[in-house]
Amino acid sequence: MQKEISEIRNEIATLTKGIKARLEYEKSFGITAIKRTEQTTTKQEEEKTTPTTAIKENKQSDIELLSSLKENALKCTLCGLHQTRTNVVFGEGNPNADLMFVGEAPGYYEDVKGLPFVGKAGELLTKIINAIDFKREDIYIANILKCRPPENRNPKPDEIAFCYPYLEKQIDLIKPKIICALGTFAAQSLLNTTESIGRLRGKFHDYHGTKLIATYHPAYLLRNPEEKRKTWEDVQKVRDYLKSF
Ligand code: SF4
Repeated sequence: MQKEISEIRNEIATLTKGIKARLEYEKSFGITAIKRTEQTTTKQEEEKTTPTTAIKENKQSDIELLSSLKENALKCTLCGLHQTRTNVVFGEGNPNADLMFVGEAPGYYEDVKGLPFVGKAGELLTKIINAIDFKREDIYIANILKCRPPENRNPKPDEIAFCYPYLEKQIDLIKPKIICALGTFAAQSLLNTTESIGRLRGKFHDYHGTKLIATYHPAYLLRNPEEKRKTWEDVQKVRDYLKSF
């Protein structure tokens, strides 16, 4: 009985944390939403607005929203990882990117520098990006978790639950044409599945109307170089898809 009560207490604590996370998250967008309404135009000005200028203005407000999302993430204390991190690794790259890579979580070097994929796995990712005729600055790179799990342990479900809304909103604002999920945690979280990366990779999936392809994480490829060929096949599909526009 005692055990049941403590389990119930834990569940309530987790739920409360989740509600707090959601409220803080929505509050941050409530503030920026006011900014959007401040930009409303008069009827005459509205008539002069062409579809092209409307798209540009929307993109500009998306870039501003991305920047305020980053400001919020940099102060985030929603999960326990804030106690052990050196830096929050929000993500980096072109806010208008057609291609977005999503990895698992920052490692040692990423935590020190506050940037995603800057260690050995990052060097390999840069090679992969260059091999499909892109530069790092053309694309956007983010992770499921924005703070490093101690000793690079696997992310815990509650950490993913708290942090995931940041990534969801990043994707929503960047609007890539295709997402490349790197490794098990990224693929499973984005596709809401428990399927193995071996079964998920190499195929196109749907992420809320955006194409998604999954492949192996560069850190896994460093340990298993014989699998690099499969990742090469996967990213060629990404390149071919983007060429079709
Ligand atoms: S991992 Fe995500 S949810 Fe946890 S403290 Fe860092 S930014 Fe916040």
